[in-house]
Amino acid sequence: MAKKMYDTPNLDELETGPWPSFVTGLKRLAKESDMMVDLLGQLETSYRTKFGYWKGGTVGVVGYGGGIIPRFTELKDENGTPVFPEAAEFHTLRIMPPAGMHYSSDLLRQMCDAWLETGGSGLIALHGQSGDIMLQGVKTENVQKAFDKFNEMGFDLGGAGPALRTSMSCVGAARCEMSCFDEARALRTVINNNIDDMHRPSLPYKFKFKFSGCPNDCVNSIQRADMAVIGTWRDNIRVNEAQVQDYYKAHGMTDLVNDVVSKCPTKAITLVAADKAPTDAHVSVAKLGDGNALCIDNKNCVRCMHCLNVIPGGLLPGSDKGVTILVGGKRTLKIGDLMGTVIVPFMKLESDDDFEKLNDLGRTIIDFFAENALEHERTGEMIERIGLMNFLEGIGIEVDPNMISHPRTNPYIRTDGWDEEVAKWNERKQSAA
Ligand code: SF4
Repeated sequence: MAKKMYDTPNLDELETGPWPSFVTGLKRLAKESDMMVDLLGQLETSYRTKFGYWKGGTVGVVGYGGGIIPRFTELKDENGTPVFPEAAEFHTLRIMPPAGMHYSSDLLRQMCDAWLETGGSGLIALHGQSGDIMLQGVKTENVQKAFDKFNEMGFDLGGAGPALRTSMSCVGAARCEMSCFDEARALRTVINNNIDDMHRPSLPYKFKFKFSGCPNDCVNSIQRADMAVIGTWRDNIRVNEAQVQDYYKAHGMTDLVNDVVSKCPTKAITLVAADKAPTDAHVSVAKLGDGNALCIDNKNCVRCMHCLNVIPGGLLPGSDKGVTILVGGKRTLKIGDLMGTVIVPFMKLESDDDFEKLNDLGRTIIDFFAENALEHERTGEMIERIGLMNFLEGIGIEVDPNMISHPRTNPYIRTDGWDEEVAKWNERKQSAA
């Protein structure tokens, strides 16, 4: 039988808006859990006094140096006794989710049961900012028990502290037609091979990998990953003419012009008379069935995904797929927000060798970061401090003109040595062809 609930006028207020409130969920759990009753008591106190009352500490499981977020209450009476004793220890277990966050409903039920059976509060957040399954609310004495149970089910702890962090990949090829590589395999390859750096924090600061199957970037990797792997293609947008025509029939010319043609950021899409449609190899053509044709000049397409998203199934990523790799994204750093910087404009990611290459690159970047970053400095800040050229040299990557995000605007750049770089790049291009 659960303890009597405290009055929570401030928290009650949060339930009155139009959206579901976490307070309702906590109250539901509180019907059967004293820990949640006391948690609500402490939370209400925080809302009243505008102070947080959690402090950290050291809690772990055998063999691991991270993965548990300790929380101890600081809300004590004059004798040092916690005011809300049942929630005095409210630790979180960070559990790595399956790549692409695919679960069966049976597994989700098992997880809920396991969490309650091992002394957990019942509160699970799917998923935290870093992608983890957050098992929130367990006493120190039950932490090992809860971990062992989840470990038996095939789960492992995620990262916390100055370590390689839990990775995320988008839902991916299993359920998305835009996917350009095997995201789950890429995630598992890189994370499994570097798992020691996750479980034994020894880096200057956190390091995150994220994997998005296409430039829609559903896991926000460009902003939120130290190394972002984003699917792309280098040939033409594929056209399923029948589906483009279905879209056209349903939406008409006005929508096609306003929502597709005029929204292309590089004006790569045009409408022409079908019999005048260009036959160039780099143009994708979809006849609309009314004498007009939609043409995409793929040389000017920047893979923004807009037209593909508006006509899903009608316009699709090309067949020559691969990935772009960016480094140093994070919002917000001490130096401001940073998007990732392209360090590999395009690489194939299909064969065992390709995955090996991706893994080697990830390892090289982690090693460079471990040796060169200052304490509490993310990769983006490190690159800003030491300069992109030094970073590229350090990880053994040649400069590529495709890394430029926009043409230079500063006329005082020295250009000595550029001709040699151009010659080297041409040579590399020829040997890759
Ligand atoms: Fe234009 Fe390419 Fe974006 Fe389509 S994906 S809107 S063609 S830039």
